[in-house]
Amino acid sequence: MNKAIQPSSPIEINKEEFRKIGYQLIDSISDFLETIGEKPVTTGETPNQIQKLLGNASLPEQGTPLEELFAKTSDLLMNHSLLNGHPKFFGYITSSPAPIGALADLLAAVVNPNVGANILSPMATAIEKQTIKWLAEFIGVPTSYGGILVSGGNMANFTAFLAARTAKAPKSIKEDGLASAPGEMVLYCSKATHTWIEKAAVLFGHGTNAVRWIPTNAANEMNTEILSQTIDQDLKSGKNPFLVIGNAGDVSTGVVDNLSEIATICKAYDLWFHIDGAYGIPAAVVPEYKNLFEGFLEADSIALDPHKWLYAPLEAGCTLIKNPQHLIDTYSSHPVYYNFSTIEDEPSLNYYEYGFQNSRGFRALKVWMALQQVGKSGYIELIGKDIELSQLLFEEAKKHSELEAVSQNLSITTLRYIPSDFSQDVKMTESYLNSLNERLLNDLQQEGEVFLSNAVIADKYCLRACIVNFRTSQKDIEEMIEIIVSKGRQLHKILYTK
Ligand SMILES: *Cc1c(COP(=O)(O)O)cnc(C)c1O
Repeated sequence: MNKAIQPSSPIEINKEEFRKIGYQLIDSISDFLETIGEKPVTTGETPNQIQKLLGNASLPEQGTPLEELFAKTSDLLMNHSLLNGHPKFFGYITSSPAPIGALADLLAAVVNPNVGANILSPMATAIEKQTIKWLAEFIGVPTSYGGILVSGGNMANFTAFLAARTAKAPKSIKEDGLASAPGEMVLYCSKATHTWIEKAAVLFGHGTNAVRWIPTNAANEMNTEILSQTIDQDLKSGKNPFLVIGNAGDVSTGVVDNLSEIATICKAYDLWFHIDGAYGIPAAVVPEYKNLFEGFLEADSIALDPHKWLYAPLEAGCTLIKNPQHLIDTYSSHPVYYNFSTIEDEPSLNYYEYGFQNSRGFRALKVWMALQQVGKSGYIELIGKDIELSQLLFEEAKKHSELEAVSQNLSITTLRYIPSDFSQDVKMTESYLNSLNERLLNDLQQEGEVFLSNAVIADKYCLRACIVNFRTSQKDIEEMIEIIVSKGRQLHKILYTK
């Protein structure tokens, strides 16, 4: 026997031990999941307190027994983390992770396919391809779309951004760079667009001044009239427009841009139309909300995040492209693969040619398995329920005399606390309400009964609940309202009598 694979190897775990440790871990995970709703959403421990728990040991010289290592690690993570799987976690856009994703990740890690090249991952590559096809079917675009799984929304948008640029720039852009473009290449997105766009402009050498932030209308959608005007002005001054980004669920309040109007403008000016649907596009599967997304079939590319509304554990994002050849054109560095379009010959599918990564993990598995566990109808139900709970929160806030319901789109509701004795003529101004609600949010986030994030809407500092959480029930919404109001009252008493 080769010495390297003898069980005495310091890194190998023999079968008996693997079973023992593995079962113990699965037992503690099952208990953790069973009781997650009874725990605080977060312990509110400070970085210093956390550092103390972790200790300051230097790099271990000798190995640690497995049982001890697992006991300590499980305690650190399960008892000192923010639990986004908690039924009262509503912060940012981070979903409760589907348990099947945890098991799928374990299985993926054990087999460890490198999904960069087909020969290194024959089954995993086929599964990723099927996952992409199912995601296309899921949101309702033709299965002729292609794409790739990436780490999240930022990477999904970056992947599409560079494909858009390659498609619209002179053929020699890859060799000669941006200088080969006739005029500065500029792009358009609404003011509500996520910060990924700034990173992309920096990363790909355009600079943030190449981004035209188009104002939004009263509904917080991109103002498409101003979009056309801005493109006209840029053309007149010798710029080179190439890309428009529409939001399908903006990150702050969940507004879907008027995608069909943006599509029409992109067609008229021959621009690439990209949709950032990282959060919201899965809602297109719910029949009642499908019409919100009208025009999305016109997009050249779409970003979506299975680690948001499909409940995949972090990380999983996805870029879908109407004509996947654009990904090959952008990312393949072997001219021999440019004959990819001859489908009859079945050239092997090598995902390193579709995006930024070379070696790639098997993140498709958790998405693929969840799609089968739940099925399309299950997801329609789950996503629809999140939206209904968000609407319920809005309605309850509207009814409550000490709450102002500010906005409701998809599964994002914003609201704020307004003291019952609030009146503009005392020294209780809008700015007092803003600082009261900011303090309220900070306290709520520390105390761990419910976790919300914030939004600033028309200068109002709001509490923001984004429900991408299959564990949330109507009771959680009702209790959230009670918690907000009771903390709001306490805080107002302290702040206002000062
Ligand atoms: C979350 C989000 C992103 C960023 O996605 P990550 O997965 O956090 O990288 C981009 N755009 C929108 C609209 C989002 O909601």
